[in-house]
Amino acid sequence: MHLARFPRIFLAHLPTPLERLDRLSRELGGPEIWIKRDDCTGLSTGGNKTRKLEFLMAEAAAMNADMVMTQGATQSNHARQTAAFAAKLGMKCHILLEDRTGSKDPNYNNNGNVLLDHLHGATTEKRPGGLDMNAEMEALADTLRADGRKVYTIPGGGSNATGALGYVNCAFELVSQANDRGLVIDHLVTATGSAGTQAGLIVGLKAINAGIPLLGFGVRAPKAKQEENVFNLALKTAEKLGCPGVVQRADVVADCDYVGAGYGIPRADTLEAIRMFAELEGVLLDPVYSGKGAAGLIDHIRKGRFRKGERVVFLHTGGAAALFGYDAAFAGDRAQRSAA
Ligand SMILES: *Cc1c(COP(=O)(O)O)cnc(C)c1O
Repeated sequence: MHLARFPRIFLAHLPTPLERLDRLSRELGGPEIWIKRDDCTGLSTGGNKTRKLEFLMAEAAAMNADMVMTQGATQSNHARQTAAFAAKLGMKCHILLEDRTGSKDPNYNNNGNVLLDHLHGATTEKRPGGLDMNAEMEALADTLRADGRKVYTIPGGGSNATGALGYVNCAFELVSQANDRGLVIDHLVTATGSAGTQAGLIVGLKAINAGIPLLGFGVRAPKAKQEENVFNLALKTAEKLGCPGVVQRADVVADCDYVGAGYGIPRADTLEAIRMFAELEGVLLDPVYSGKGAAGLIDHIRKGRFRKGERVVFLHTGGAAALFGYDAAFAGDRAQRSAA
């Protein structure tokens, strides 16, 4: 397996740092907690989509696309990173934003990632929640193609076998960093949504026989559905890489007990996790993905599923730009704390 055989535009700030979280580890009194800083990939406040876009945008460039189109929820971090990458390459970017939460909050609808999409010169249009958004996007792309535009479409979250290559690479990068400092990783955990991150990681880890179990904390779908999505994409990714059969169904594990009321709706433990990382480590999580992943991590430690003497790496997938769309979620939280 040799990733250099795939077209790629090198733009992310790599390798991202691997750091120990001493104060959080002490506070929880369990395993040594490490963080892989994919919030620091460098593009427009960073995040995990940049690694995927290095491979996806290389395909767009190879077909001489003059426009990229993608889709996501209103506060999509993927949309923001796609808009920034397209700006860097001088391509037009159009984004379909799905109203997945029904929020009428002006900050949710205009601030955070939406503000940044527009600053990067992208155009956006809204869709009501519950549609097949990839189908919506392909239909629109076809009408533009009929007008002569060269449109490259990117699925939600950049999650196809091409995008997942970015996380195969991340698995190699992480294991190499751990090897260089004699760090034995007992567990790797991450938030999992459109599946490309978890699928790419598990293919990379299995391909080099790293022996590191990977746990994804879901943010939307129930466990069975999430695991099926990840496994299917892992199969396609392994096939593309020329190592079919490297991932078994049992390698794909998702825990979807921290989703709460739904996608993009933070729970009390999401807000607590965000506060703990911010106050103890100076690290900003987000209310949609990394906050729920971290809530899962913290709960597993409190329940003794990750134990003293072990080392757990939390992959920070980014998303802090969305905090500016969620100030209202913290207002009640803050009022409660100052009263206490
Ligand atoms: C998209 C995203 C994820 C989930 O990654 P997938 O590859 O879609 O599963 C996690 N965290 C953040 C901040 C994201 O933007």
